Amino acid sequence: MFKKILIANRGEIALRVICAAKELGIKTVAVYSEADRNALHVRFADEAVCIGPPRPAESYLNIPAVISAAEITNVDAVHPGYGFLSENANFAEVCEASGIKFIGPPPEAIRLMGGKDRARAAVKEAGLPVLPGSPGVLKDEAEARTIAAQVGFPVILKASAGGGGRGMRIVASAAELPNHFAAAQSEAAAAFGNGDLYLEKYIARPRHIEFQILADEHGHVMHLGERECTVQRRHQKLLEEAPSVRVSPELRREMGERVTRALQAAGYTNAGTVEFLMDEDGSLYFIEMNTRLQVEHPVTEMVTGVDMVKAQIRIANGESLESAIGLDPDKLVFPRGHAIECRINAENPDTFAPSAGRITAFHAPGGNGVRVDSAAYGEGVVPPYYDSLIAKVIAHGRDREEARLRMIRALEMFIVQGIDTSIPLQLRILHDPDFRAGKLDTRFMERFQPAPKARKASPAVRGSASRAQERGA
Ligand code: ADP
Repeated sequence: MFKKILIANRGEIALRVICAAKELGIKTVAVYSEADRNALHVRFADEAVCIGPPRPAESYLNIPAVISAAEITNVDAVHPGYGFLSENANFAEVCEASGIKFIGPPPEAIRLMGGKDRARAAVKEAGLPVLPGSPGVLKDEAEARTIAAQVGFPVILKASAGGGGRGMRIVASAAELPNHFAAAQSEAAAAFGNGDLYLEKYIARPRHIEFQILADEHGHVMHLGERECTVQRRHQKLLEEAPSVRVSPELRREMGERVTRALQAAGYTNAGTVEFLMDEDGSLYFIEMNTRLQVEHPVTEMVTGVDMVKAQIRIANGESLESAIGLDPDKLVFPRGHAIECRINAENPDTFAPSAGRITAFHAPGGNGVRVDSAAYGEGVVPPYYDSLIAKVIAHGRDREEARLRMIRALEMFIVQGIDTSIPLQLRILHDPDFRAGKLDTRFMERFQPAPKARKASPAVRGSASRAQERGA
């Protein structure tokens, strides 16, 4: 087993990886920016190395700085967490070239899935359903017009290099296409350094359903069922659950097997998530694959009993799936009960403007069936430079209603003072009659939009979106 690993991340996910490493008897190295000197991941790691100024480009995204820290501390492996460098194929390559194991899939898999149009073509080839759309990158607006006419409006233009809910434009009619095409292209070029676009059919009221997979380095792939991440704001997830009320045991088995076969054919390894949209008649269509640990992995952990991060580390260490999850994959019974996760963001719950600053009082809930993954603490500072996620609350119950009620009482017992948080918004969602009935689609959050006056405070809101993108999660 590895003796020491470096965690190329910050916040709750850095602590999550430290927990797994400690339980495996592995030493940890934290890296931190000057803004994170007093962060908990620095305190709880065995060693810590400052890698630069607060701005992500100069620290957490700075490959030479991270690799130097890994070399100085003589680690065997690097865990990238989510966001930052986790889906950077060059980083994975530099790690391997430096003799440091990258805890994730091979660079080629990251590169393939990182181009969303290529990923779409590859999984289609491997037998997964995709939405009707362009076979690859659109050459020009004329091609977009021809394909959109074949597919039928509305369509969605998407940036091939997009992520974090950015780089998408819904086009309702042929008349709207020229403006949207030009704007989407220049936005994608500015945000992702690549203006390539592709196009697919727009589903008006879909659910977002994703399958978690694990694959060892000996050709074995398994799935751990689905998560439902339909509660989104600006195409970013806010509350996730497992299982989905709309996935029957038969559909879970069928799609799980298809996803497993597709990734086996592709030679995929480590953890990954295959994301789908479900239309109103319950059909699933691939939208993208994430080649890393997801923010919402804890709901899968609660309903399967598998520690995803330990499994990732064991797989990277060359162990079999059976060794990674502690039993024969065919004997894993899931879902066990129901789990819900709420993302607690440092933000104003009415205007959604980010709320950085010093936390003056902090009490995290606990009790039966409640888990809190957080790096926040009383007197701790939420820096303005990174994404606003300060805690994830996960409630596990024997069924969805028990998980919902448990989450409500947990959030009522969560004290955070000094900064604003999304806790009041999450409570409104949990009390919503449609949420309670499981009647969800990706436009569910429109009923909780800020008042038009508040929405004028958009420079701050835009700032928050761009930071979320830097994490890419
Ligand atoms: P990102 O990589 O930015 O996360 P995704 O392709 O995963 O982008 O899509 C994020 C969200 O955008 C989806 O969960 C869904 O809400 C919306 N979306 C994406 N594609 C479509 C589509 N074809 N029709 C309707 N909504 C879509």
